[in-house]
Amino acid sequence: MYMSDCIFCKIIEKKIPAKIIYEDEYALAFEDLNPQAPVHALVIPKKHIPTTLDIKEEDNNLIGHLIKVANKIASDKGIAERGFRIVTNCNPESGQTVYHIHLHVLGGRPMHWPPG
Ligand code: 5GP
Ligand code: ZN
Repeated sequence: MYMSDCIFCKIIEKKIPAKIIYEDEYALAFEDLNPQAPVHALVIPKKHIPTTLDIKEEDNNLIGHLIKVANKIASDKGIAERGFRIVTNCNPESGQTVYHIHLHVLGGRPMHWPPG
C-alpha cells in the first residue's frame, strides 16, 4: 500500500515527522511545511495514488471523504464561513511536486483569482 520512496507515505507511516491535525483509517491531514497562507493544510489518502489521473472508480468514496476532511479542517480552523480554497495540482505544469495526491486547504486571507 505504501511506496518506500514517497515522502507522504513516509509521513503516514510516521517515519518522518509532520504536524498532524487529523487522522482516521483512510486519510491524514497535516500542516504544509511551506505555508502559502495563514491556514495551509494538506489532506491525503492513506492509499498511495500518484496523481488525480490515477483515481479509479473504486476511489470515489475515498475522494469524497477527503473533501469532507478538508471541510472539517476549515471549520476547526475557523475559516469555513469566511471562505477557503481547496486546490489539487496534477502533473508538472500545475506545480505538482509530490506524487501522492493531496488537497491543499488554504485560507485565512483573501484568495486571489485567477490563481498564479
Ligand atoms: P504540490 O506542489 O505537489 O501541489 O504540493 C506539495 C506540498 O507539500 C507543498 O506545498 C510543500 O510545501 C509540501 N511538502 C513537501 N514536503 C513536505 C514535507 O516533508 N512535510 C510537509 N509537512 N509538507 C511538505
Ligand atoms: Zn505515497
